[in-house]
Formats: sequence, C-alpha cells, structure tokens
Amino acid sequence: MMAGASAPLNPRYPVGMNERFDVVIVGGAAVGASVAWHLARDPAFAGSVLVLEKDASYARAATALSASSIRRQFSTSINVRLSGYGIALLREARALLGADAGLHEGGYLFLASEAGREILRANHAVQTDEGADILWLEPDALASRFPWMSTEGVAAGTWGRSGEGWFDGFGVMQAMRRASRAAGVTWREAEGVRILVEAGRARGVALADGSRIEAGTVIVTAGTGAAPLLETAGLALPVRPRKRCIFYVRCPEALPGFPLLIDPTGVYARPEGAGFICGVAPPEEADPDVAPDDFEVDHALFEETVWPTLAARVPAFERLRMERAWAGHYDMNLFDHNAFAGAAPGLEGLLLACGFSGHGLQQAPAVGRGLAELAAHGRFLSLDLSPLSPARFAAGERLVERNVV
Ligand SMILES: Cc1cc2nc3c(=O)[nH]c(=O)nc-3n(C[C@H](O)[C@H](O)[C@H](O)COP(=O)(O)OP(=O)(O)OC[C@H]3O[C@@H](n4cnc5c(N)ncnc54)[C@H](O)[C@@H]3O)c2cc1C
Repeated sequence: MMAGASAPLNPRYPVGMNERFDVVIVGGAAVGASVAWHLARDPAFAGSVLVLEKDASYARAATALSASSIRRQFSTSINVRLSGYGIALLREARALLGADAGLHEGGYLFLASEAGREILRANHAVQTDEGADILWLEPDALASRFPWMSTEGVAAGTWGRSGEGWFDGFGVMQAMRRASRAAGVTWREAEGVRILVEAGRARGVALADGSRIEAGTVIVTAGTGAAPLLETAGLALPVRPRKRCIFYVRCPEALPGFPLLIDPTGVYARPEGAGFICGVAPPEEADPDVAPDDFEVDHALFEETVWPTLAARVPAFERLRMERAWAGHYDMNLFDHNAFAGAAPGLEGLLLACGFSGHGLQQAPAVGRGLAELAAHGRFLSLDLSPLSPARFAAGERLVERNVV
C-alpha cells in the first residue's frame, strides 16, 4: 500500500478539510489495529490509512484490561467461526506478526447444573457442527480429568481440548500496530469528536483540536467510545459501558491442568502467571451504565460472591490470597449481547464494530479482517460477517448470544 500521505484540500467539499486519507479508523486498540493490519497486508489495496487513537497509553482501553481469553464455546455459529480465525492467527503470530502471541490452549470448562444441562447440550451441538474440538463430560469424567474440583451440583461440563485458552492480547495488538505502521499506515494520537456527514454519506472526521480529516471510508472501532461518536452521525445503537472487575489471586497448592473454569453461577477463574485471575458479572440489577472515569474495584464482589463460589468448587481455593485487582469497561450490546460489525445502516462510507459484550479481543482478528475487506472490496471475501450487521437492531432481529461471561 501507499504511504499514508495527506492530500491537498478537496475543493468539492464546502467544509474545509485539512487532510485526506482513503480510510480513517477511529479507535486504535485491538479491533482498530486489526483493521489497519489487514488493510496493510492486502495486496489489492493501495489506499492511504490513518488510525486515530485518543490515548496511546491505552490505560483505559478494554484491550489493556481484559482477561484476554479465547473460546470456541459460544451459542451462535458466527461467534464459533470468528474465534476459529482468531485461534489460527494466534497460532501463527510469530510468522505473521513477528511476535509470539503467548497462546496457552488450556481450554474453557463450562459447567452446567441440571437446569442448564440442555442448554449446554444445544450449545455443544452448535460448536461441534462448526468443527470445534469440544468434549462433552459427565460428572465422573469431570472428576477424573480435574481431580482438584468438586462436581457438587454439576450435571455436565464441556471442555475445549484444543483451540481455546488465553493469550497476550495487548501484545498482539501492539504487534499489529507496529506491522501496520511499518507497511505505511499512519497512526496519530488524536480524538475524533464528530463524524462529518453530507448528503447521506460519511465524509470524514472532526478532531478535538478543531481540524477535519476527509475520508473515503470512516471506520469506528472505538470500544465504549463508539456509540457516542456514532450518534454524531445520527446512528443510535444500544451499546453501553459496563464495569467488570478482575481479581488476581495466589493459591498455595498446584492445580495441574487448570482450564478457564466457568462455574454454573457464572464465576470464572483461569491460570495467570504464578496465580489465577477470576471474576464474575454482577447481577443485572447491580450493573448500571458506568461513568467514563469510574475504574474503582468492587471488592465486595470478590468477598461475597467470587471467593465463596470458587472455594466451594475448588477446595484448595479456600486458602487463596488476593494480591491485586483492576476494573475495565465492557462495550455491552443490550440488544442481543453480540457485536455490531459492518456497514452503518443508511449511511454510505461508514463502517463500525462495537458492542462486543466482553468477547472482542478474541474476535478482533476476524472482525478486523472483515471490515478491511468491506473497506477495500465492498464485500466480505473470507468469513461472511453479515449476521453481525448493525442493521439487525433497527430490523428488530436479535442474534442472541447465551454464553456471555
Ligand atoms: C475486564 C474485562 C475482561 C475481558 N475479557 C475478555 C476476554 O477474556 N476475551 C475477550 O475476547 N474479550 C474480553 N474482554 C473484551 C475485550 O477486551 C474487548 O471487547 C476488546 O478489547 C474491544 O476492543 P476494541 O478495540 O473494540 O475497544 P477498546 O479496547 O476499548 O479500545 C477502543 C480504543 O478507542 C479509543 N477511542 C475511544 N474513543 C475514541 C475517539 N473518539 N477518538 C479516538 N480514539 C478513541 C480508546 O482510547 C481505545 O484505545 C474483556 C473486557 C474487560 C473490560
């Protein structure tokens, strides 16, 4: 692709534009970096690309605060497929990105009570139909494979034997950023404050410093910042910020083969370094929109819910010690808990991806590739992402994801 050079003001537009790029990406974390990298490596695309990232430290980006795990165990085929590409890319990261992805394929272990057994069965069928390597385990099989775990109240479990686990998501994002920059993408620390629209078409982006950048295509990948920005173009999506806390704990006992365990209550834990990370989504009535600067950890959630639940499931966790904790923000899609990814309905020249509802890091490779294909070719060439089309909201067509962790 060409180096990301700016062009002279374009006299066709009455609004004074300061620069022009073929593609302007707003939000340069996991998803934005993936779009940029996929565009940069497309030999058929010769356009200029600018990525706008308002905070190059990424201190508050979900990408930096995530549990960074990847699974095939979803209830919708499209999500199983998205992670299929994700895992393939992570396995090849060194060759593709020049950096190891730190992938550990430890698997997810979803546990179901009697009440959840049939839903687990239905989800398992969706996953195996898509070729995912997920084992169905009855309680006795669970007990022999995971001897440190209590199967009290467990009717069945599903475990990803391969193709699931955890990885260095922040490192992968940085590697994509570096590689795209080396290939000519321009990265700039700047905040997009408004999408410029003219005659039913996105024409560019206005920045906080007052400048305006003209774009052939605007792509919004701004996480929790996406919905407010899209509203400036008249597009209202039901994506809201929700706080999620992660607790890092140490356990005095070794627990070999520990996967990413999800208790029937929704409490989860997985190995991280010499310890474990764990957490749970708060109940819906205690899960309001979170203020942009509220990153305070909810320690009561650990004391009252996470720890007692884990100690009942894994007796050795009775003696665990919490060492640190942090909070991050999900971009939660209140409509159906799945990402919106694709063309903005009713507006030419505007693409978006947001509303990942807690699974965007693993979906960033496939969604980034899909948006890059739309920008460069006007259609999906590899994986068809149309089930995630933002148009489904106005049409009232939900793509409900039941497995939201
Ligand atoms: C606690 C927690 C645990 C999670 N665990 C997992 C997990 O295990 N697996 C998984 O797949 N996902 C997980 N997620 C979700 C995942 O982290 C996100 O879905 C993913 O990182 C979203 O990436 P993104 O690039 O869309 O958004 P973000 O990472 O939020 O990045 C958006 C970027 O856009 C920038 N930005 C925003 N507005 C503007 C603007 N107006 N102009 C310029 N820049 C702007 C921001 O500064 C930010 O860098 C978790 C999230 C949290 C919070």
